Amino acid sequence: MAVLPIVVWPDPRLRQETRRVTEITDEIRTLYRDLVDTMYAHNGLGIAAIQVGDPTAMFLVEPELAGASAKDDPVAFINPEILWTSEESEKTDEGCLSFPGIYVPVERPVAARVRALGIDGESFEIEGEGLLARCLLHENDHLTGKLLVDFVGPLKRQMIKRKLGKQTETSAA
Ligand code: ZN
Repeated sequence: MAVLPIVVWPDPRLRQETRRVTEITDEIRTLYRDLVDTMYAHNGLGIAAIQVGDPTAMFLVEPELAGASAKDDPVAFINPEILWTSEESEKTDEGCLSFPGIYVPVERPVAARVRALGIDGESFEIEGEGLLARCLLHENDHLTGKLLVDFVGPLKRQMIKRKLGKQTETSAA
């Protein structure tokens, strides 16, 4: 178990193609535990494996948000598929661990239904509204290489690049 460093945009690893999981191996279980530690260390509501540089098709959602108890572990979504999204949508500011300190308004469906494998290897479906739907769709975007900057215009994109570029230089100094 370990807190892993978060890959911050514009790191090209965030655009890697993800790999579907064919079997829940010890390696996948270790990755899951590391993602749990990393998500909690950064106060995230969700995290995708690609955000620690691992292209496995898996993301996690904070347990209470995903409808479990606060004492439960975060819910793993392995090989997730979006089965349905509502026609109704709303625009809300969204953040991302790979864009520290950046918030951008993103229009998303208000409800979504997702099918995935859990860390136990069992298939399950979950339907979420509001913040849960937003979180599911945001994390699923990571697995297709879609990022917050893809929702903004070129000027805002440059601004975000300057801001995150500066942070990288500062931390490297
Ligand atoms: Zn994100």
